[in-house]
Amino acid sequence: ATPTALLAATGRGARLGILVSGVQALERLKHIDTVVLDKTGTLTSGRMSVIAVTVPADADADADAGEVLRLAAAVEQGSDHPLAHAIVAHAHRQGDGLPLPRPVGFAAAPGSGVRAMVDGEEVAVVRPGELSGIPGRLREAVHAAETAGHTAVLVRVGDVPRAVISVGDTLRSDAYRAVEHLRRLGLRPVLATGDREATARSIAGRLGITEVHAGALPEDKAALVTTLQGHGGRVAVVGDGVNDAAALAAADLGIAMAGGTDAAIGAADVTLVREDLQALPDAVRLARHTLATIR
Ligand code: ADP
Ligand code: MG
Repeated sequence: ATPTALLAATGRGARLGILVSGVQALERLKHIDTVVLDKTGTLTSGRMSVIAVTVPADADADADAGEVLRLAAAVEQGSDHPLAHAIVAHAHRQGDGLPLPRPVGFAAAPGSGVRAMVDGEEVAVVRPGELSGIPGRLREAVHAAETAGHTAVLVRVGDVPRAVISVGDTLRSDAYRAVEHLRRLGLRPVLATGDREATARSIAGRLGITEVHAGALPEDKAALVTTLQGHGGRVAVVGDGVNDAAALAAADLGIAMAGGTDAAIGAADVTLVREDLQALPDAVRLARHTLATIR
């Protein structure tokens, strides 16, 4: 393709809501055959809200749920994750205007959770790992949330599992159509998420995606890309989070959602400015069409 034609295509892309870092990105987009999609904030809106706070059966349900929610929210003030925004907002709504405690020594493990000292105790809000060690009611809350396609996080205070917070997210209204469109263009959709298997399967099932990689840490998402490439795949990654940055960089083409974190946008070759997944199949068609007609 001539530089002029590519520049024209870049301009057309911008009107479709696709911002490319350089004209080479369009060339690469044309040859993509596999699309790895992140779940939270990419296939789902990322606007999450708390559905339930569950405490163990032997706890004083209302008092304890409110108290643990405050501790969890105190820690989450330091995080930019959609889960964190949901938990902080919920605590503010429930909190009768009471300010949240100030966390000390905040630490985040991308794809896994956050922790800090709050009121002299270590509070962690994390992906539930092995469920065998937690009280029955908390285990049931995790299962119920995940079967519904929601995300459950575990709150530990010190070493004690104190609550499960179930957080709901909604599929983007255009997700089904966009994935279907990708398939019709001959692209293979793959779901990769740091979330757990049951949640991931529930969401994937609604989109007709059969290839699912759950529980993926940031480095696992990047390794997945390398593996797919090793089998001859030309791989695009679509993501929004800090946890997607490594995979976006490893991909043949990294695509960031406009509302994504700076880390994701910085690592990507293409940004979907429209906050609209349909822009992705549109972009593929644009690249194929433009670069085919000007040869
Ligand atoms: P996704 O790949 O779907 O965008 P992430 O990799 O961001 O998901 O997160 C994976 C999991 O790590 C979440 O489902 C959650 O259990 C945990 N997690 C990540 N960030 C946080 C946080 N700020 N608070 C609590 N849990 C978190
Ligand atoms: Mg995400």
